[in-house]
Amino acid sequence: MIVKRGDLQREFARVRRVFFPRWDRKREWHVRWFPDLCGADGKCFRGTKVIGIAHGVRMKDLTLVLIHESAHAVVFGGENERWKARMRRAAQKAEKLGENRLAKQIQAEVRAYRRQSAISFDPSYVQDRMEDIASENPAVTFDAAVAILRRECAATEADFLKHFGKAARAGWREGKRLPRLWEAARARRTSTEP
Ligand SMILES: [Zn+2]
Repeated sequence: MIVKRGDLQREFARVRRVFFPRWDRKREWHVRWFPDLCGADGKCFRGTKVIGIAHGVRMKDLTLVLIHESAHAVVFGGENERWKARMRRAAQKAEKLGENRLAKQIQAEVRAYRRQSAISFDPSYVQDRMEDIASENPAVTFDAAVAILRRECAATEADFLKHFGKAARAGWREGKRLPRLWEAARARRTSTEP
């Protein structure tokens, strides 16, 4: 069965209330359909506080996809260890509620990511983190920033650079550019003040 419009809103409200009771107490997050999410079932858009669900997700998978994406909203980054821990908690909750099929689905989802922590640490996350590190710590070198991030995803340096080298360098460039832009904007403001 394909998911109907009302089902999506109702199930998202239930997932938030039951599985993530301390998250989004102000009800700022929304769930929305997307015709396509580059082949994914769901996506967490932190900037706009939207959980995107792809058209065609089946009713039997909907709760799992909502929990997967909500866990991303709670825990920054990709399918990392903290995300897995949060997913395991959701599985325990499902078990407690007698939703055994859902509990098994969640556990299987976590297992699927167990062996790919380096790869599931996705490029946009690496780029964001590099940007933060570079802009906030003028003294840190590119290599040191890579060392920080590759330890977080338990990858070797070679593996990390192979998967995320491009994203890391893009984030680094942007992070070094931002403070200069702020500085220039401030200088302009000061020079035009009477
Ligand atoms: Zn994910």
